[in-house]
Amino acid sequence: MGEKGAKRYLIETWGCQMNQHDTEKMAGILEGLGYSSTEDPASADLILLNTCSVREKAESKVFGRLGRLGRLKKDRPDLLIGVVGCVAQQAGEAIFRRAPYVDVVMGPRNLARLGALLEEARRDGRSIGLARDDDPIEFPAAATARAAGPRAYVTVMEGCNKSCTFCIVPTTRGSEVYRHPDEILAEVRRLAAQGYCEIEFLGQNVNAYHSGVHDLASLLHMADRVPGVRRLRFTTSHPGHLKTGIMNAMRDVPTVCNHLHLPAQSGSDRILRGMNRGYTRARYLSRIDYLRRAVPGIAFSTDFIVGFPGETDEDFRGTLSLLRGVEFDQVYAFAYSPRPGTPATRMDGGLSDEVMHARLQELLALQETIQKRRNEALVGRAFEVLVDGSGRLDNGLAKGRTGCNRIVHFPAAAGRGSFLEVRITRANAHSLIGEPLAPGAA
Ligand code: SAM
Repeated sequence: MGEKGAKRYLIETWGCQMNQHDTEKMAGILEGLGYSSTEDPASADLILLNTCSVREKAESKVFGRLGRLGRLKKDRPDLLIGVVGCVAQQAGEAIFRRAPYVDVVMGPRNLARLGALLEEARRDGRSIGLARDDDPIEFPAAATARAAGPRAYVTVMEGCNKSCTFCIVPTTRGSEVYRHPDEILAEVRRLAAQGYCEIEFLGQNVNAYHSGVHDLASLLHMADRVPGVRRLRFTTSHPGHLKTGIMNAMRDVPTVCNHLHLPAQSGSDRILRGMNRGYTRARYLSRIDYLRRAVPGIAFSTDFIVGFPGETDEDFRGTLSLLRGVEFDQVYAFAYSPRPGTPATRMDGGLSDEVMHARLQELLALQETIQKRRNEALVGRAFEVLVDGSGRLDNGLAKGRTGCNRIVHFPAAAGRGSFLEVRITRANAHSLIGEPLAPGAA
């Protein structure tokens, strides 16, 4: 352990935006306790693995990583190791049995207790925080150590009340609690004053948000009026809660971006029933149609699971035809992964890994051609792009995002947070290349 004030922490993050933002919250708490961040495990006094248990693969990677950290701890017994997030909530005490050198196990609803749990681990050798009750959560918003702007996440709700038969999230994150709108808006105002001009509202079921008379639509209207807010996004939406009011807010609120992530999961009504998704393919399509008519140039992204128990070839063809019919702009697709205790694990008709893998490849190949075609159709058009850094390739290009959530690379000396008009000159399936227009040339 270093001297007081010189302690260093490292947080490794798996999974969704909620996990990324939980990491920012924990970083803020740790910095308030005098820690500073490091990228180097060998110089860290505290290493937290912020984990995801949505699929088995993500979970097993955590245990692989823990094995390597255990060897580090042999040389440096003062190092504190914590497993936090969804795997922690799900596996609980079993983590200590599997990796006895772990000091702290903490579920996602316990973030505000991080400091106390670390102290307890130092004092008693070990600590665990798995409270998952539905009391209003303490949102440690003021302490959050955010990534550099111009984009910032803001939690509007925690937990999920859906009961999709494949999903572990309601078990690990508990049931829904909603943050008070005054608190949310105060955070948005604070962020906008600091220069964060793109705000993304987060919740596992974000469009189910409600508090008193307010719902997600009214939150969007109120956040739009905060000076300095230029773009608003929200994720993840459930198709069953996509009320007309929210779709109209996407149409009417000027700062709401023309992109929606709307997980479909399957294009077969039979499978959607088995998943207990609570909507049909026709209802899903009616939402897409409404928004395409209401919001010019809207882009859609989605999630699919292939190989859900009992999925026939015909069901899978239904998913491919949904893909062709909607022409999504981006698709995240996964092979079904049985999660402990979920109802789908007790269903008949499990598919072999070979079949699941072949279906996944077929879906991804189809989407690649759709995506490339859709992106190529944008060549020659100009978009307003918000610069958020430089690309992964060290090629001197700046990187930005359109309102419709497409990544564009372009040559410019523009700083993070600036808005530029960029004309698209080349298109790949996953990104666009462009050139900035002289002001007024669009
Ligand atoms: N709120 C989202 C929704 O409407 O379903 C769920 C978010 S979940 C963290 C992200 C994605 O992981 C899901 O949309 C689903 O496609 C995928 N997923 C969840 N459970 C899975 C499982 N057991 N096997 C494979 N993929 C899964």
